[in-house]
Amino acid sequence: MDIDDRANLSEFDIIARYFSNIGFASPPGNAAVALSVGDDCAILTVPAGQRLALSIDTLVEGRHFPTGADPFAIAERALAVCISDLAAMGAKPLAFTLALTLPAADRVWLDAFSRGLHESANHYLIPLVGGDICAGPLSITIQVHGALPANAGLLRRGAVPGDLIFVTGKLGDAAAALDMLQGRLQADYAQQQYLNSRFYRPDARVVLGQALLDVASAAIDVSDGLLADLGHILSASHVAAKIFSEQLPISSTLAAVAGREQVVDYALRGGDDYELCFTAGAQHRQQLVEYAELFDVPIAEIGEIKPGMGVSCIGDNGDELNTEHRGFQHFQ
Ligand code: ADP
Ligand code: MG
Repeated sequence: MDIDDRANLSEFDIIARYFSNIGFASPPGNAAVALSVGDDCAILTVPAGQRLALSIDTLVEGRHFPTGADPFAIAERALAVCISDLAAMGAKPLAFTLALTLPAADRVWLDAFSRGLHESANHYLIPLVGGDICAGPLSITIQVHGALPANAGLLRRGAVPGDLIFVTGKLGDAAAALDMLQGRLQADYAQQQYLNSRFYRPDARVVLGQALLDVASAAIDVSDGLLADLGHILSASHVAAKIFSEQLPISSTLAAVAGREQVVDYALRGGDDYELCFTAGAQHRQQLVEYAELFDVPIAEIGEIKPGMGVSCIGDNGDELNTEHRGFQHFQ
């Protein structure tokens, strides 16, 4: 569509120009889409024998990302954060919808945002099939639709005493990135680049998540901090956990920018990493080593499920750490 660059953009211009063809570069993602952007509803075909898994997330400027942040990066992050819930469920991405509240129809912003969304949508093989746009303070809501084999799904309940506890990737980087962006943590240029990318480009573990359907007894993605999110598995499963600070996976960058105590704190309490935390019986250990290799995702064993309630964390020196003050919560 050709729109005069000096004219004001209408809602329909914005949809046609920036949001009509997102994520369709990736053929496998298109199979489920019977009807996309432009009608009253989108229509999806759920693969035979499968069920729909749905999840929605809102990101608000100044709360979930810094005011004035790069729109390309915001878009990538918004979609990855939402896809991470599909990963934590073991679901395969099918399609997503987008509700945007925008302070203004700013072409430069919209252009970068839609390019970021396109990049991320093609990466995760998930097309944009509909949405809504209205005026107001910047906020981005994405709903993802995924497919799960009937009767399968990585729930939070299901962990039993004796299961091992695993996390993917590295923990604490995203929280350190936020501290750095807000001037509370010093880092050199290369460290800043790494930490920034860990905050803005979380790697939603969708392929591994689907493989874990046959292996994990419970799973969650780490959005609010390991203690908080592991805590959800524990309360849903009615069990306790014992974890070891020495086994927490830490990036060399994080280890270099902060003292050990603060590093452990970032890993235990820092949110926004969007790694998976899951439990599995010890008989699956070798399988997980193979998955880590096959899917190129580090998987660290950090502890064990016990009978009882709550998390105990053994520090580097063998003493138990305080595990109070868990993660971020709204309305507190
Ligand atoms: P309605 O009045 O039925 O809600 P809209 O005018 O809001 O329809 O949207 C027209 C079409 O454009 C619909 O297919 C809708 O899904 C799609 N759409 C609206 N906003 C977006 C967006 N931000 N991204 C993708 N599709 C969008
Ligand atoms: Mg509408």
